Amino acid sequence: MSEHDHDHDVVLSRRGALAKLGGLAVVALSGTALATRELLDAEEADAAGTGPAAVASGLVSCVLAPEQTEGPYYVEDAALRRNVTEGKPGVPLTLRLTVVNVASCRPIKGAAVEIWHCDAGGAYSGVQGDTGMFLRGVQRTDAKGLALFRTIYPGWYQGRTVHIHTKVHLGGNVVHTGQLYFSDAVTDAAYKRSPYDERPDRTTRNTADSIYRNGGKRSTLKLVRSGTAYVGSIAMGVQRS
Ligand code: FE
Repeated sequence: MSEHDHDHDVVLSRRGALAKLGGLAVVALSGTALATRELLDAEEADAAGTGPAAVASGLVSCVLAPEQTEGPYYVEDAALRRNVTEGKPGVPLTLRLTVVNVASCRPIKGAAVEIWHCDAGGAYSGVQGDTGMFLRGVQRTDAKGLALFRTIYPGWYQGRTVHIHTKVHLGGNVVHTGQLYFSDAVTDAAYKRSPYDERPDRTTRNTADSIYRNGGKRSTLKLVRSGTAYVGSIAMGVQRS
């Protein structure tokens, strides 16, 4: 599985590189009609700042986001809202989640991005007797494919590494179900702060997590400190279905 995923990465990034070289190389490799479509996509994507040039410069990685289990704590009908904290204590975290079409690297506008994660103590809302909806929400992507959330750094629970669940809906269909991950070093730093420091012995780091090991590295947020907060960014390549 991981080997296959790796091959897939290589094919996609190579296609982006070829598209950048221009029409002749692409036509020779993949046939006129397909190549024309791809070139059009590439040009539009470049115009939007997300195409092969952006891929090459590292601004976006147009890679298929790995499908991962939604887990047992999904609850339907999360609210359309940017700030999902509901006053829950924790280190502030802004999420910048971009949805791109993995076939073209073009941003997808109007996708509904849904997130849910546990609080600093490791508990989810809406399950196990809780009737709330804290730390759950939906945002629509803008013209740049971007969905923004304000939340807190997730806590941890038994047997899992730190993660945020996500689903992407397009036209009423779920086109992606996955999980977003954090650098263990950044988590170590964040967890020195209150209230995470009340539970110092988290059980599972990334490489010990069986779900993370199945492609999770490609869903690791790029984290930047911003004062006492963090900003986590990632581009999720999805297939329109
Ligand atoms: Fe979970």
